[in-house]
Amino acid sequence: MVIIEQLSDLGYSQVDLDALEACLAFSGKQDIYAVAMLTDGRLLATADSWRDQFGELQSICFDYLRSDMQATWLQATPHIIRELLTDADGIRRARQTRGIEQDANANLALHTLRDMVTDALNKQATDIHIRLAGFMARISYRIDGLLVLQGNRNRVFVTEVVAAALHTHSEDHADIFDERQVSAATITIDIGTPAQTIRIRAQKSPCRDGFTMTLRLQRIGQGQVPQLSELGLAAERILDLNVLLASSNGVILISGPTGHGKTTTLAALNGAVPDTRKVISLEDPIEIIQPRVDQKYISHHHGQHFADMLKVVLREDPDIVEVSEIRDRETAEAALSAALTGHLVASTIHATDAVGVIARLHDLGLSALQLAQPGLFAGLIAQRLLPRLCEDCKHREVHPVWGRLWRRSQEGCEACQGTGIQGRVMVCEVLIPKDESYGFIRHMDLQGWRQQLQNQGWITMAHDAVRFIRRGQVDWQDAGELVPGLTNAMIRKDARNELGACKITTTA
Ligand SMILES: [Zn+2]
Repeated sequence: MVIIEQLSDLGYSQVDLDALEACLAFSGKQDIYAVAMLTDGRLLATADSWRDQFGELQSICFDYLRSDMQATWLQATPHIIRELLTDADGIRRARQTRGIEQDANANLALHTLRDMVTDALNKQATDIHIRLAGFMARISYRIDGLLVLQGNRNRVFVTEVVAAALHTHSEDHADIFDERQVSAATITIDIGTPAQTIRIRAQKSPCRDGFTMTLRLQRIGQGQVPQLSELGLAAERILDLNVLLASSNGVILISGPTGHGKTTTLAALNGAVPDTRKVISLEDPIEIIQPRVDQKYISHHHGQHFADMLKVVLREDPDIVEVSEIRDRETAEAALSAALTGHLVASTIHATDAVGVIARLHDLGLSALQLAQPGLFAGLIAQRLLPRLCEDCKHREVHPVWGRLWRRSQEGCEACQGTGIQGRVMVCEVLIPKDESYGFIRHMDLQGWRQQLQNQGWITMAHDAVRFIRRGQVDWQDAGELVPGLTNAMIRKDARNELGACKITTTA
């Protein structure tokens, strides 16, 4: 008999709602007995149930197995089965209170959602934003980092579509998706020919006169995890990153604002790790499916915590451990101690620049002494995604210091849907702290550290951005809004030498 150890091993099939009542009754009797019948005919029961209650399990099978189902018997822990049953019960209740006629409406909803997602992907959107106000639902797509309004739809229709699709197809509905509750859920659908699997992460948050629903779209399958060389980095930055990955221990932290590709960089780094090294990644939610990485979904909703799980997975003998984000002191401390005990730990953190990561960790409650242990940091990375100028409508203007530079068109054109932008480019800085750097950290003299780095000719994000500005790929004003210290440098007469000091490779 196959033993199921994780919910994810079951795929996306759900508890058969017709059999649910019988399963609940059986599973409510004693802790060691539990059964769930799945929509594809699989009967999942605990080892004790199979041993002691075989007759009853057979009769559930007999009563509910439809002719199109193939009976398969599986064994799982009571915990897994009860989790399935609770979720199924939640779905059933939500349907009853909302009066959704499941089959007909769910199919219609799924079709409508598919249409919307197909349209969004055709326009290269990464997210669909639905903002509800009054009777209307305003639908916008995030394309190249900018929100582009698509039009208004009927509110009831749109919320029913999303809710129904989530109710019937969600993999991890920790909450039932409901207008009145904060909730998040993930569903996977196939669209197009040849079919392409799209993972949709739905998140709802309240706003002034209603709420916004954000559907983050993610293509699953080949070519989805980018290679380091595909991120558009300068060759020197790729070398730097490979140096980081060769470290056997220490912390690698990637910083930047939300939506600026930190997770993508982390995934690309994974792709560059040789097969001989084991990578375990703790994530909430899992944003990019990475076949070679042991990805574990940590549900804060279920009271799990990165810090605790980090200690647990160290026993599974990984070479590299990843945490999707460090956002509290406990996680930061667990990451640091893993790094000091011979692991390479990689994570992301909110900070303005590479040096700023230290300030952020200090703010989270780590002492300067904790942070100043030589060799602790394998590397500090900061990055931004900058809008790439539309080749069809960009134009030249004279800049007071830099001379003629390409600018973004305000009106845009058809090719860029009136935005003046097509895609984004990544700028970054990679800081590999040397022994002397830890002296600055011990005294939290970050300004002094920055000064020293500058004297040594360290390439910052601003340098990297200038590379793209001079190549005509980025508008200097767009870059200035996103890259710290750039605007000032762009208008200072003396900065041209300083910023231009790094080698500029111009495209042919
Ligand atoms: Zn254009």
